[in-house]
Amino acid sequence: MATFSFCPHPGCLWHQEAPGEDWYISVGYHQTKAFGPVPRFRCRSCGKTFSTQTFSIDYYAKRKVDYDRLLLLHSSSQSGRSLSRSFGVSCGTIINRLDRLSRQAAALQARLRRETRPDEPVCIDGFVSFTRSQFFPSEITISITRDSRFILDLTHATHRRSGSMTEI
Ligand SMILES: [Zn+2]
Repeated sequence: MATFSFCPHPGCLWHQEAPGEDWYISVGYHQTKAFGPVPRFRCRSCGKTFSTQTFSIDYYAKRKVDYDRLLLLHSSSQSGRSLSRSFGVSCGTIINRLDRLSRQAAALQARLRRETRPDEPVCIDGFVSFTRSQFFPSEITISITRDSRFILDLTHATHRRSGSMTEI
């Protein structure tokens, strides 16, 4: 059986941290087309229910997408439409799953940032790229620790296009 360390409902006493493992009870399953039977539980404190999906990256999703493959293809610069064709899902589904992956990555990065050494030297540098086309230049600034190579922060700023255009 799955274990959970806190109640997902913000108003609950055990939202931040629950006492031990018997703070919830099993209340059966609900059937889903995409994920089959999903176990459901009830919090003993607030009485509200939740399921394994509540804590899942696929919360409220209606279709399964292979996140490992999606991340690999996306980081290989495959376009959204191409990803949509590759996975046989809509562009909206691809955007949704990339958003979910992004939020997980941002949360993980924030959690790991607490583990960095405050005395470790940091290098801050940026590079110029573009978004969509070279008519929309941008600068991505990265701060990275010297020894552990941990990315502390990353910012993205759009620029006005520089230079002048000539008639073709
Ligand atoms: Zn609760």
